[in-house]
Amino acid sequence: MHQPTLREMIFYAWKNSDFYRQFWQTHNFNPEKDFHDISDLKKIPVLTKTDLLAATMSERSILNSNDGYYFTDISSGTGGKPLVILKQYHSMPLYFDYILDLVKISRISFLALRPTSSATAFLGAGIAGQFLPRGSIISLGDVNDFIYSATIALNIEANFLVLRPATAISFAASLEKQGYSPSKIKFLYLSGEPITLAAISFLRKVYSNATIIYTYAMTEGPASMGIRSSLCTTLEDLSPNAYHLNIRDFFFETSDKALLVTSLHELPTPLIRFKNGDQTIIKDNFQCSCGFPAGKIAIIGPRSGEDSYKIGNFFFQASEIHKALAKLNEFFTENFELQVEQIAEKDQLVLTLDFTLQTINNPTPFLTDAIREVLEREVRISRSQTLGDAIGKGYVMPINIRFSSSLSTSRILPPQEFMKHFL
Ligand SMILES: [Zn+2]
Repeated sequence: MHQPTLREMIFYAWKNSDFYRQFWQTHNFNPEKDFHDISDLKKIPVLTKTDLLAATMSERSILNSNDGYYFTDISSGTGGKPLVILKQYHSMPLYFDYILDLVKISRISFLALRPTSSATAFLGAGIAGQFLPRGSIISLGDVNDFIYSATIALNIEANFLVLRPATAISFAASLEKQGYSPSKIKFLYLSGEPITLAAISFLRKVYSNATIIYTYAMTEGPASMGIRSSLCTTLEDLSPNAYHLNIRDFFFETSDKALLVTSLHELPTPLIRFKNGDQTIIKDNFQCSCGFPAGKIAIIGPRSGEDSYKIGNFFFQASEIHKALAKLNEFFTENFELQVEQIAEKDQLVLTLDFTLQTINNPTPFLTDAIREVLEREVRISRSQTLGDAIGKGYVMPINIRFSSSLSTSRILPPQEFMKHFL
């Protein structure tokens, strides 16, 4: 497979994509006149998810029957509209190859617990990209039926799991219940959300024989952008959200700490200077404890928007909080701050919530109780649960309520361990 250079990608998009030609022309960029070498990179307009969503899939996709097959994938688009994209293959990051070589297992027996909407791309594009060696057993479990999935794991003697960190935590109990010890898992491949130090230590204990692989990826891309393993103590010390960058499949830049990604693959929808919304710090020539050759790493910070946050199996949204508090709004302004943390408590991961409100008058204990009550009853944090439901089940600790006179906006803040380096 020919791996295009950055320059080739720019001209590929210019020649083949109506979407890019229009987008660039609207922003007065013509690569034939304006792009000579890498120093001209900043002239290329930055692309966002909103720009992609403004075009239909056929308007922004270059299709060519020589590509073989196209598989659909869907990016959840936290808060916004989901984006459906097409892909031909998933490319395997060099780091994954490195770890697979290091942890030798004779036959991979692989079970993925992914949403059905992504399963097509996961399986089709994964196999097209030769993600796993021939002879591997490949199985898709059902993310909504852990008992069925654990039964599959038992029968195929699964040694390789792919899932989200929150799913891995819940699924371990189902494996035990079906008589298949999580200690039989040799690879635990985690993707889909940042992971806290509390979750890392929990997973290490439960999947005690697994090499854990943490990935930083976006659905729009052909591969993980960043990857780290449980051997990467040096990276983990830096941040629970630091990774070896996949510089074979992507070209990375930052602009005011915002990550800009160019994919070095001729995707149906090429990605050129795509701003995915994550704040990022890139470091060069980093030597890690895992032994991988020194190179570029990235520390991923919070998303630039602060009106929602997904952690564990829960999704906190400012709009839900505003709606709930509208019933009490004569007592305080609209501004609030919600700080979410994850801790380990009695062998379970639990969220703690510090909720700060800006009051108009002096808060009374009565008012504090009323706020707590309305938040617990009205705020939904998953499809099926309110905040109160999750507190009742012990997934979330009772909310700490504080008051401040100096808030200027509403913010939902990720755990502080993700904020260091970014304050
Ligand atoms: Zn490493």
